Amino acid sequence: MSPRDHGYARYKLDGCRCYVCGFAVAQWRDAREQAVRRGQWQPYVDAAPVRAHLRRLQACGLGLRRIAQAAGVDRKRLQAVLHGRPERGTPPQRQVRPGLAQAVLAIEPTEDLLGPATVIDATGTRRRLQALVAAGWPQARLAARLGMARGCVSALMARERVCVRTVRAVKALYDTLWCADPRRHGVDAQAYSRARNQARSRYWAPVGAWDDDTLDDPAAVPDTGAANEPTRMERTAARHDEIVHLASFGLSALEVGARLGVSSTTVGTVLRAERAEHVGHRRARSDARPRPPPRGTAPGAAPDRDYA
Ligand SMILES: [Zn+2]
Repeated sequence: MSPRDHGYARYKLDGCRCYVCGFAVAQWRDAREQAVRRGQWQPYVDAAPVRAHLRRLQACGLGLRRIAQAAGVDRKRLQAVLHGRPERGTPPQRQVRPGLAQAVLAIEPTEDLLGPATVIDATGTRRRLQALVAAGWPQARLAARLGMARGCVSALMARERVCVRTVRAVKALYDTLWCADPRRHGVDAQAYSRARNQARSRYWAPVGAWDDDTLDDPAAVPDTGAANEPTRMERTAARHDEIVHLASFGLSALEVGARLGVSSTTVGTVLRAERAEHVGHRRARSDARPRPPPRGTAPGAAPDRDYA
Protein backbone atom coordinates (compact mmCIF):
# COMPACT_ATOMS: atom_id res chain seq x y z
CA MET A 1 0.00 0.00 0.00
CA SER A 2 1.34 3.41 -0.91
CA PRO A 3 1.96 5.80 1.99
CA ARG A 4 -0.61 8.46 2.73
CA ASP A 5 0.06 12.09 1.81
CA HIS A 6 1.40 14.22 4.66
CA GLY A 7 -1.48 15.73 6.59
CA TYR A 8 -4.08 14.86 9.19
CA ALA A 9 -4.48 11.20 8.16
CA ARG A 10 -0.75 10.57 8.10
CA TYR A 11 -0.35 12.17 11.54
CA LYS A 12 -3.15 10.12 13.05
CA LEU A 13 -2.64 6.78 11.34
CA ASP A 14 1.06 6.65 10.49
CA GLY A 15 2.42 8.55 13.45
CA CYS A 16 4.19 11.12 11.26
CA ARG A 17 5.26 14.16 13.28
CA CYS A 18 6.62 16.32 10.46
CA TYR A 19 5.71 20.00 10.16
CA VAL A 20 3.04 19.48 7.50
CA CYS A 21 1.28 16.76 9.49
CA GLY A 22 1.50 18.74 12.73
CA PHE A 23 0.10 21.82 11.03
CA ALA A 24 -2.88 19.88 9.63
CA VAL A 25 -3.76 18.59 13.09
CA ALA A 26 -3.36 22.08 14.59
CA GLN A 27 -5.81 23.43 11.99
CA TRP A 28 -8.34 20.78 12.93
CA ARG A 29 -7.96 21.57 16.65
CA ASP A 30 -8.47 25.25 15.90
CA ALA A 31 -11.60 24.56 13.87
CA ARG A 32 -12.98 22.34 16.61
CA GLU A 33 -12.49 25.01 19.26
CA GLN A 34 -13.92 27.75 17.06
CA ALA A 35 -17.05 25.71 16.36
CA VAL A 36 -17.63 25.46 20.09
CA ARG A 37 -16.88 29.15 20.78
CA ARG A 38 -18.86 30.62 17.89
CA GLY A 39 -21.71 28.20 18.44
CA GLN A 40 -22.47 29.89 21.72
CA TRP A 41 -23.65 33.11 20.11
CA GLN A 42 -24.26 32.36 16.42
CA PRO A 43 -27.17 30.42 14.94
CA TYR A 44 -24.99 29.22 12.05
CA VAL A 45 -21.27 28.64 11.58
CA ASP A 46 -19.05 28.31 8.51
CA ALA A 47 -19.37 24.92 6.81
CA ALA A 48 -15.87 24.95 5.26
CA PRO A 49 -14.01 23.57 8.32
CA VAL A 50 -16.65 20.83 8.61
CA ARG A 51 -16.19 19.95 4.95
CA ALA A 52 -12.42 19.90 5.43
CA HIS A 53 -12.73 17.54 8.35
CA LEU A 54 -15.07 15.21 6.47
CA ARG A 55 -12.41 14.98 3.77
CA ARG A 56 -9.71 14.31 6.38
CA LEU A 57 -11.76 11.48 7.83
CA GLN A 58 -12.38 10.10 4.35
CA ALA A 59 -8.61 10.18 3.76
CA CYS A 60 -8.35 7.96 6.84
CA GLY A 61 -10.56 5.44 5.07
CA LEU A 62 -13.77 6.25 6.95
CA GLY A 63 -16.98 6.14 4.92
CA LEU A 64 -19.66 8.81 5.23
CA ARG A 65 -22.05 6.26 6.73
CA ARG A 66 -19.58 5.48 9.49
CA ILE A 67 -18.88 9.15 10.18
CA ALA A 68 -22.60 9.97 10.31
CA GLN A 69 -23.19 7.13 12.71
CA ALA A 70 -20.34 8.17 15.00
CA ALA A 71 -21.41 11.83 14.95
CA GLY A 72 -25.04 10.95 15.50
CA VAL A 73 -26.25 12.91 12.48
CA ASP A 74 -28.10 11.99 9.29
CA ARG A 75 -25.84 10.99 6.41
CA LYS A 76 -27.81 13.19 4.00
CA ARG A 77 -26.85 16.24 6.01
CA LEU A 78 -23.18 15.38 5.61
CA GLN A 79 -23.70 14.83 1.91
CA ALA A 80 -25.25 18.28 1.70
CA VAL A 81 -22.15 19.75 3.32
CA LEU A 82 -19.83 17.91 0.95
CA HIS A 83 -21.71 18.02 -2.34
CA GLY A 84 -24.85 20.08 -1.85
CA ARG A 85 -28.15 18.64 -3.07
CA PRO A 86 -27.83 18.01 -6.80
CA GLU A 87 -31.48 16.89 -6.98
CA ARG A 88 -32.53 20.38 -5.84
CA GLY A 89 -29.72 22.08 -7.70
CA THR A 90 -28.13 23.48 -4.52
CA PRO A 91 -24.35 23.80 -4.12
CA PRO A 92 -22.39 22.54 -1.07
CA GLN A 93 -23.81 24.14 2.05
CA ARG A 94 -22.09 27.36 3.11
CA GLN A 95 -23.23 27.31 6.70
CA VAL A 96 -24.29 24.66 9.19
CA ARG A 97 -25.78 24.55 12.65
CA PRO A 98 -23.11 24.72 15.38
CA GLY A 99 -24.30 21.36 16.74
CA LEU A 100 -23.54 19.63 13.45
CA ALA A 101 -20.13 21.32 13.18
CA GLN A 102 -19.22 20.33 16.71
CA ALA A 103 -20.38 16.75 16.24
CA VAL A 104 -18.36 16.26 13.05
CA LEU A 105 -15.25 18.05 14.28
CA ALA A 106 -15.27 15.88 17.41
CA ILE A 107 -14.84 12.68 15.36
CA GLU A 108 -11.35 11.24 15.23
CA PRO A 109 -10.16 8.20 13.30
CA THR A 110 -9.82 6.02 16.37
CA GLU A 111 -9.08 2.37 15.88
CA ASP A 112 -12.64 1.31 16.76
CA LEU A 113 -14.00 3.39 13.85
CA LEU A 114 -11.47 2.28 11.24
CA GLY A 115 -12.08 -0.66 8.94
CA PRO A 116 -10.24 -3.89 9.82
CA ALA A 117 -8.14 -3.81 6.65
CA THR A 118 -6.91 -0.23 7.10
CA VAL A 119 -3.14 -0.16 7.49
CA ILE A 120 -1.82 1.95 10.36
CA ASP A 121 1.35 2.59 12.35
CA ALA A 122 2.64 -0.47 14.24
CA THR A 123 4.14 1.31 17.26
CA GLY A 124 1.51 0.27 19.82
CA THR A 125 1.36 -3.28 18.48
CA ARG A 126 5.13 -3.67 18.69
CA ARG A 127 5.30 -2.23 22.21
CA ARG A 128 2.53 -4.50 23.46
CA LEU A 129 4.22 -7.63 22.11
CA GLN A 130 7.60 -6.55 23.47
CA ALA A 131 6.11 -5.83 26.88
CA LEU A 132 4.50 -9.27 26.99
CA VAL A 133 7.83 -10.94 26.15
CA ALA A 134 9.39 -8.80 28.90
CA ALA A 135 6.75 -10.21 31.26
CA GLY A 136 7.94 -13.74 30.42
CA TRP A 137 5.61 -14.75 27.59
CA PRO A 138 7.56 -16.69 24.94
CA GLN A 139 6.97 -15.45 21.39
CA ALA A 140 5.80 -18.90 20.29
CA ARG A 141 3.10 -18.80 22.96
CA LEU A 142 1.95 -15.35 21.86
CA ALA A 143 1.87 -16.51 18.24
CA ALA A 144 -0.29 -19.50 19.17
CA ARG A 145 -2.73 -17.28 21.05
CA LEU A 146 -2.95 -14.97 18.06
CA GLY A 147 -3.57 -17.94 15.80
CA MET A 148 -0.34 -17.26 13.91
CA ALA A 149 2.58 -19.43 12.86
CA ARG A 150 5.51 -19.68 15.25
CA GLY A 151 7.84 -17.09 13.74
CA CYS A 152 5.14 -14.53 13.02
CA VAL A 153 5.40 -12.55 16.24
CA SER A 154 9.05 -11.81 15.61
CA ALA A 155 8.23 -10.66 12.08
CA LEU A 156 5.28 -8.65 13.38
CA MET A 157 7.53 -6.80 15.82
CA ALA A 158 9.75 -5.75 12.91
CA ARG A 159 6.85 -4.29 10.94
CA GLU A 160 6.43 -0.58 10.49
CA ARG A 161 2.71 -0.75 9.72
CA VAL A 162 0.01 -3.32 10.40
CA CYS A 163 -3.66 -3.62 9.59
CA VAL A 164 -6.29 -2.63 12.13
CA ARG A 165 -7.39 -6.27 12.43
CA THR A 166 -3.95 -7.19 13.80
CA VAL A 167 -3.84 -4.11 16.03
CA ARG A 168 -7.12 -5.20 17.62
CA ALA A 169 -6.01 -8.81 18.06
CA VAL A 170 -2.75 -7.79 19.77
CA LYS A 171 -4.56 -5.26 21.94
CA ALA A 172 -7.06 -7.88 23.09
CA LEU A 173 -4.23 -10.31 23.80
CA TYR A 174 -2.34 -7.67 25.76
CA ASP A 175 -5.42 -6.75 27.78
CA THR A 176 -5.84 -10.41 28.73
CA LEU A 177 -2.22 -11.19 29.52
CA TRP A 178 -0.47 -8.06 30.77
CA CYS A 179 -1.11 -8.79 34.44
CA ALA A 180 -1.14 -12.60 34.23
CA ASP A 181 1.80 -14.73 35.39
CA PRO A 182 2.95 -16.83 32.41
CA ARG A 183 4.11 -19.62 34.77
CA ARG A 184 0.52 -20.08 35.91
CA HIS A 185 -0.54 -20.50 32.31
CA GLY A 186 1.65 -23.40 31.32
CA VAL A 187 4.89 -21.55 30.51
CA ASP A 188 7.78 -23.49 32.06
CA ALA A 189 10.43 -21.73 34.12
CA GLN A 190 13.09 -22.02 31.45
CA ALA A 191 10.99 -20.53 28.65
CA TYR A 192 9.83 -17.85 31.07
CA SER A 193 13.33 -16.64 31.92
CA ARG A 194 14.48 -17.01 28.34
CA ALA A 195 11.72 -14.62 27.23
CA ARG A 196 12.54 -12.16 30.00
CA ASN A 197 16.26 -12.26 29.20
CA GLN A 198 15.60 -11.71 25.52
CA ALA A 199 13.51 -8.63 26.30
CA ARG A 200 16.09 -7.31 28.74
CA SER A 201 18.98 -7.73 26.31
CA ARG A 202 17.04 -5.83 23.64
CA TYR A 203 15.80 -3.13 26.03
CA TRP A 204 12.18 -3.90 25.33
CA ALA A 205 10.15 -1.84 27.77
CA PRO A 206 8.07 -3.75 30.32
CA VAL A 207 4.33 -3.29 30.86
CA GLY A 208 4.94 -0.89 33.75
CA ALA A 209 6.87 1.54 31.56
CA TRP A 210 3.74 2.55 29.63
CA ASP A 211 0.50 4.35 30.40
CA ASP A 212 -2.62 3.75 28.34
CA ASP A 213 -2.15 7.10 26.65
CA THR A 214 1.57 6.71 25.89
CA LEU A 215 1.51 3.13 24.60
CA ASP A 216 0.30 4.06 21.11
CA ASP A 217 2.00 7.45 20.87
CA PRO A 218 5.01 7.17 18.54
CA ALA A 219 6.57 10.21 20.20
CA ALA A 220 6.37 8.77 23.73
CA VAL A 221 9.34 7.14 25.43
CA PRO A 222 9.03 4.35 28.00
CA ASP A 223 9.31 5.34 31.63
CA THR A 224 11.73 2.72 32.89
CA GLY A 225 12.96 4.67 35.88
CA ALA A 226 16.46 6.08 36.24
CA ALA A 227 17.80 3.27 38.42
CA ASN A 228 18.07 0.67 35.69
CA GLU A 229 19.17 3.02 32.92
CA PRO A 230 21.52 1.09 30.68
CA THR A 231 25.06 2.38 30.24
CA ARG A 232 26.11 3.89 26.95
CA MET A 233 28.02 0.76 26.02
CA GLU A 234 25.01 -1.43 26.77
CA ARG A 235 22.86 0.84 24.60
CA THR A 236 25.33 0.61 21.75
CA ALA A 237 25.41 -3.17 22.00
CA ALA A 238 21.61 -3.33 22.08
CA ARG A 239 21.34 -1.00 19.10
CA HIS A 240 23.82 -3.20 17.25
CA ASP A 241 21.68 -6.29 17.95
CA GLU A 242 18.52 -4.47 16.96
CA ILE A 243 20.03 -3.36 13.63
CA VAL A 244 21.17 -6.88 12.81
CA HIS A 245 17.79 -8.24 13.90
CA LEU A 246 15.79 -5.84 11.69
CA ALA A 247 18.13 -6.32 8.72
CA SER A 248 17.55 -10.06 8.96
CA PHE A 249 13.95 -9.40 7.86
CA GLY A 250 15.18 -7.90 4.62
CA LEU A 251 14.65 -4.25 5.61
CA SER A 252 16.94 -1.82 3.79
CA ALA A 253 19.55 0.22 5.68
CA LEU A 254 17.31 3.25 5.16
CA GLU A 255 14.28 1.52 6.66
CA VAL A 256 16.22 0.14 9.61
CA GLY A 257 17.71 3.58 10.24
CA ALA A 258 14.30 5.25 10.09
CA ARG A 259 12.91 2.73 12.55
CA LEU A 260 15.68 3.14 15.10
CA GLY A 261 16.29 6.83 14.60
CA VAL A 262 19.86 6.44 13.33
CA SER A 263 21.42 7.31 9.99
CA SER A 264 21.60 4.69 7.27
CA THR A 265 25.38 5.21 7.32
CA THR A 266 25.47 3.97 10.91
CA VAL A 267 23.31 1.01 9.94
CA GLY A 268 25.68 0.20 7.06
CA THR A 269 28.69 0.44 9.35
CA VAL A 270 27.17 -1.93 11.89
CA LEU A 271 26.13 -4.45 9.25
CA ARG A 272 29.56 -4.41 7.60
CA ALA A 273 31.20 -4.88 10.99
CA GLU A 274 28.84 -7.75 11.72
CA ARG A 275 29.73 -9.39 8.42
CA ALA A 276 33.46 -8.77 8.92
CA GLU A 277 33.12 -10.44 12.28
CA HIS A 278 31.60 -13.57 10.76
CA VAL A 279 34.33 -13.73 8.13
CA GLY A 280 36.97 -13.14 10.79
CA HIS A 281 35.64 -15.98 12.88
CA ARG A 282 35.73 -18.34 9.96
CA ARG A 283 39.28 -17.37 8.97
CA ALA A 284 40.92 -17.51 12.35
CA ARG A 285 38.90 -18.40 15.36
CA SER A 286 41.77 -17.57 17.68
CA ASP A 287 41.94 -13.98 16.44
CA ALA A 288 40.84 -11.20 18.69
CA ARG A 289 37.28 -10.04 18.09
CA PRO A 290 37.40 -7.44 15.33
CA ARG A 291 35.96 -4.12 16.42
CA PRO A 292 33.52 -2.15 14.31
CA PRO A 293 35.34 0.48 12.26
CA PRO A 294 34.94 4.06 13.46
CA ARG A 295 31.97 6.08 12.15
CA GLY A 296 32.14 7.04 8.54
CA THR A 297 35.01 4.76 7.58
CA ALA A 298 34.67 1.25 6.31
CA PRO A 299 38.01 -0.38 5.63
CA GLY A 300 37.77 -3.19 3.17
CA ALA A 301 34.03 -2.89 3.06
CA ALA A 302 32.20 -4.78 0.38
CA PRO A 303 29.26 -3.06 -1.33
CA ASP A 304 26.13 -3.01 0.79
CA ARG A 305 24.05 -4.94 -1.70
CA ASP A 306 22.92 -7.70 0.66
CA TYR A 307 21.19 -5.21 2.87
CA ALA A 308 20.21 -2.48 0.48
ZN1 LIG B 1 4.19 14.10 7.87
